[in-house]
Amino acid sequence: MLAAMPATRRTSPERPERDEPLVRDRGDACPGALRLHRADDGFLARLRLPGGRLTSHQVEVLATAAEELGDGGIGITSRGNAELRGLGDGCGAELAAVLERAGLLPSATHERVRNIVASPAAGLDGLGHGDVQLWVRALDTLLCATPRAASLSGRFLFVVDDGRGDVAGLGGDVTLLAAEDGDSALLRFAGHTLRVPAADAPHAAVAAALAFLDAAAAAGNGAWRVPELPAGHAPDPAAALAAAGIAAEPVQDPQTPQAAPLAPAPLAPGPLGARALSVLAPLGRLTAAQARALLPAAEVRLTPWRGVVLVEPAAGLATLAAHGLVTAPDTPAAGVTACTGRPGCAKSLADVRAEALRAPAGPLPVHFSGCERRCGHPRPAGTWVDVLAADGGETYLVDGVPTPRTSLPAAIATARTTTR
Ligand code: SF4
Repeated sequence: MLAAMPATRRTSPERPERDEPLVRDRGDACPGALRLHRADDGFLARLRLPGGRLTSHQVEVLATAAEELGDGGIGITSRGNAELRGLGDGCGAELAAVLERAGLLPSATHERVRNIVASPAAGLDGLGHGDVQLWVRALDTLLCATPRAASLSGRFLFVVDDGRGDVAGLGGDVTLLAAEDGDSALLRFAGHTLRVPAADAPHAAVAAALAFLDAAAAAGNGAWRVPELPAGHAPDPAAALAAAGIAAEPVQDPQTPQAAPLAPAPLAPGPLGARALSVLAPLGRLTAAQARALLPAAEVRLTPWRGVVLVEPAAGLATLAAHGLVTAPDTPAAGVTACTGRPGCAKSLADVRAEALRAPAGPLPVHFSGCERRCGHPRPAGTWVDVLAADGGETYLVDGVPTPRTSLPAAIATARTTTR
């Protein structure tokens, strides 16, 4: 079988190749907290958490909901959102009520569009140019208060980077970057970069999103995201911001530093002296017991690298390690992620999560996928090892190279240590 497989050319999962303009004839099917998705292992709910932020109480609520309504685990997505799986038939109303009481469902109409990824260590470790978590909260409030924003797709993404460059490359449709001067923000949108006053940054992000909706309506192709707009239909960011009353200056896009994803470790103490640490969830899932082991903490932030930043936690790294969390960068589970795979997803060719548990350690992230959709893969392209099931799971493509399952550990060990 292996010999018959063509050597697969590595195509970027970021941008599937298209010969014809994209036309979408339906809304996106992204699950939400109110719109549950039926999977092979039960219903799935995805809960948007702007900036990944949770209180200790909310973590406890999610852990209890996972145990009582789902399969006992909390998934962390590549956007720092939370997922509950294995939900039973007819538990949607109960789940919604639980989430609403905990303050996790501020808007029924906008719950799927609150996709805001932010630098998880912003304001904690003295790096970056400001505490952009404050922008995140303002942006979320503005989004939920803007009726038209409810028309955004569940895939449209806002990225808010504090200037260190850890999340700026995550493929935001609208990206805000804290500027070095501390008084302004850079707005990246539709191929343009504009400087706006820091105080107007959240407002500018919403104005850009509304300009996208205008452009998508004019194009008539049902675009869900900015790169899907056809040629000739790009929005005009300067005009959109001017119409919103925001002073904006087009600027040359600066070379943003690219900070590596947060490693599991204590964070450097910042100017405010907050004690914080970062851990990873094994394969991006916390058991209810692991979620409770994080508590109490002044704040919990889920990260787009499927980890957690804890602010002023009661637990130390040793305690968290004893609960099975990844607390050191050199452990094999660090940087290993996988899609749902079998048996939860009918499309999967293999139990990729079981395979991922055998992955050897290495500096580069590695992601296992059960099919070519590569759900939840890391970003940006070219910075991670792509392991794709093929041939009923007896063969995998490691960065496009067919590899028998039995040779996977050796191939992955090499790929994870190969500079790219
Ligand atoms: S990548 Fe494919 S197999 Fe994996 S969860 Fe997505 S659709 Fe399912």
